[in-house]
Amino acid sequence: MTTSSLSYAIDEDDHLVKLDEGYYRFAEENGWAEAGSSLGRSLWDYVAGHELRKLQRLLVRRVRDEVGDVELPFRCDAPKVRREMNIRIVARPGGRAVLFSARLRSELARDVPQPLLDPSAPRAGDPLPMCGWCDRFEVGGEWVEVEEAARRLQLFNRPELPPLSHGVCPECSELLLAA
Ligand SMILES: [Zn+2]
Repeated sequence: MTTSSLSYAIDEDDHLVKLDEGYYRFAEENGWAEAGSSLGRSLWDYVAGHELRKLQRLLVRRVRDEVGDVELPFRCDAPKVRREMNIRIVARPGGRAVLFSARLRSELARDVPQPLLDPSAPRAGDPLPMCGWCDRFEVGGEWVEVEEAARRLQLFNRPELPPLSHGVCPECSELLLAA
């Protein structure tokens, strides 16, 4: 079982100022590079893809301006597990600091590990779009789960995997804009 919760906070300049033990444990379990040096860095260095950065910036701005909070589902899959999580984003009254707390809703072991989700797998060829929020892939104009993407692209017969281009699928774009 993965670490079940983690939290981090940013200051008014969006720099990571507080990372709890769950953050470091989760980072280690998921092979996030450079997690040990996250403190003081910009949050946006850790959000993959221009589109997701843009949507999350808008969301953080709304949370700050309204001193409100939002809670959203997201996926944080790994090659061997499918993970559903929730993230709560809360503005601290009186300041511009924002707290993010994520907790695990469910974790399911995959029958077959999915190397597409492995950041260290060798890559070559045409980029494959991946949604950075729900971890689905766009194949032939349709957003599908990793198993389906691997099947449709016949990745098990290929020596190399396509590189990923990080974006946001229309459903997640809507979810983030409506939050
Ligand atoms: Zn998505």
